[in-house]
Amino acid sequence: MRVWFVLFLVTALLITAMPMETGFATPRGKVPKLIVTPSNKYCPVDGVKLTGATSYFVDYGGKTLGFCCSECKRKFISNPARYSGNIR
Ligand SMILES: [Zn+2]
Repeated sequence: MRVWFVLFLVTALLITAMPMETGFATPRGKVPKLIVTPSNKYCPVDGVKLTGATSYFVDYGGKTLGFCCSECKRKFISNPARYSGNIR
């Protein structure tokens, strides 16, 4: 039963850490960031080619959608319908 408790703790930590990741800006390189390889190749907001792994991403339509910067991520979250046609 101890294993399940540890698993629960880790999951709870991950869930509570996520809003903090997007909630405020941290100095670049100071804090280890969550990095993913998104399913899209271009930033849906301004069309900038993505270089692979990024820490700016959201889960959208069951896919991991990457952005070139935090500003684009913020714009997408505020109006996903406007940019969802640009996903490629
Ligand atoms: Zn962008």
